[in-house]
Amino acid sequence: RYAINLNVRGIQPSATLRINETSNQLRAEGRDIIKLGLGQSPFPVPERVVEALRNHAHEKDYLPVKGLKPLREAISRYINRREQMRSTWEDVLIGPGSKELLFMLQLAYYGDLLIPRPSWVSYAPQARIIGRSVHWLPTHGENNWQLTAEELDIVCRDDPSRPRILILNYPSNPTGCTYTEDQLLELAHVARKYRIILLSDEIYGEVHFEGRHKSIARYYPEGTIVSTGLSKWAGAGGWRLGTFIFPPELRPLQDAMAIIASETYTATSAPIQHAAIAAFDGGPDLDEYLKQSRRVLKVVGEYLHKRLTAMGAVVQKPEGAFYLFPDFSGFREALAGRDIKTSQALCQALLEDTGVAILPASDFGFVPDHLGARLAFVDFDGAVALDLAGGQYADRALDDSFVEEACPRLVTAMDKMA
Ligand code: PLP
Repeated sequence: RYAINLNVRGIQPSATLRINETSNQLRAEGRDIIKLGLGQSPFPVPERVVEALRNHAHEKDYLPVKGLKPLREAISRYINRREQMRSTWEDVLIGPGSKELLFMLQLAYYGDLLIPRPSWVSYAPQARIIGRSVHWLPTHGENNWQLTAEELDIVCRDDPSRPRILILNYPSNPTGCTYTEDQLLELAHVARKYRIILLSDEIYGEVHFEGRHKSIARYYPEGTIVSTGLSKWAGAGGWRLGTFIFPPELRPLQDAMAIIASETYTATSAPIQHAAIAAFDGGPDLDEYLKQSRRVLKVVGEYLHKRLTAMGAVVQKPEGAFYLFPDFSGFREALAGRDIKTSQALCQALLEDTGVAILPASDFGFVPDHLGARLAFVDFDGAVALDLAGGQYADRALDDSFVEEACPRLVTAMDKMA
């Protein structure tokens, strides 16, 4: 006889992995499924990074819990170069994916967890698994789904000294929106006022379409932990490597997480850590890879934005990452006629009728009857797209005809959805 921990009972497996499995199963049954559910980079891992992995395949030792020193040094150099920070290698913690690090942070930290609505699918279930409650902070589509400094202040002012952690993710999964420097400055000001710990989830920081991504750590260095990894900008999601960069002020929190790591996964595997050095050290070839992948994602995102808007959905133009978060409320009456009243039912019907797999807004913190959904625009041949972008299209402005040529499945998805 046994019982399941009450915190876990009733939780479904992670929404993104669930939709991926359902899509694969339907494909295996012969259905043509267009997978816009799982947010995985469509691009191949850069060749230099693959080569570094190959060169270290023989490395078999357990590595230090916080990570390989040369990798921690490379990540510190990377973040200092990118964000004009002054981190040292000791501020860096490596883990098997930033998802695991986020979970360990929740285990190690005592205090309230604040997350904007909508937010990535795993923050809230992770909190639930360890029995922590979540305080959702409202954001609005008209306002590009950005958390305002004022809303943050309202939540904190009644009990100013309560320990709190805020997870801010930009460019955002699920909305594709990001923050301006001024907005980050204002949020940093409120965070400092209430001594909030800020977990800045910048896993899409390199997948930023216009100008440069800037970290809020520039404006609130003493209270910000930056989270990033290899999954989204180096195409290596399945390799599982994430990293947190802490301010020295939060060293006890970093140490507490390392204790948890030492009693759970021990360390990320050695070949992956060696390969990650090549990714974080960068170089002209990686700059070009990033430049071309951003160009491709931007033009694809804008094409889909246009198509969804023409269909009558309300959707923000993506500024980064590879997601769109359309609102289908305008179809509420028509959908109710088919007994579709929740985002879950909407996505289920779409999958059954058209074979297009997307995720319901309820997986991102919304009430069930908010008729929104997240669409990950990654079901295209990224190798072909990069080749087109970097090869015969390198000097050409990418436009809709490029999308139609390189991403026929996405175009089909739009035709079917319409
Ligand atoms: N944070 C966000 C916003 C994500 O979208 C993801 C992956 O989908 C992660 C974190 C986790 O990434 P990983 O564990 O692969 O580093």
